[in-house]
Amino acid sequence: MQFTRVQGGILVEGRIEAQVEVECIRCLAHFPYSTLLEVEEVVGLAGRSRAGITYRLTEEGWFDPSSLLREQAWVALPMKPLCRPGCQGICPECGANLNLESCRCGEERVDPRLAVLARLLEDRAGS
Ligand SMILES: [Zn+2]
Ligand SMILES: [Zn+2]
Repeated sequence: MQFTRVQGGILVEGRIEAQVEVECIRCLAHFPYSTLLEVEEVVGLAGRSRAGITYRLTEEGWFDPSSLLREQAWVALPMKPLCRPGCQGICPECGANLNLESCRCGEERVDPRLAVLARLLEDRAGS
């Protein structure tokens, strides 16, 4: 980050790699999204108000970049974040996260008679 003294404030310039937590639009999982932010913002001196200045130094002359970065990161975020390419999302029927588990909602219903047979086989395998 580079700080240059300009009239009425300090010009903050730099590239910062920021990591923000976003929510996948398909499965609602939270995941870190990293983005390279290009910052170019004039930070005003404390106590003075000037048009076009959003950020201000503290009374002690410090600049806390976190709010600036948060805002920039917000702008840089994708509109429709996905936790991974081809995220399977959540099953609308049972709410299972299809990335982690498969559910049977999409499958055809098993014939009840076959289901009985399947259960018998399972019992046998379990003993
Ligand atoms: Zn996802
Ligand atoms: Zn399901």
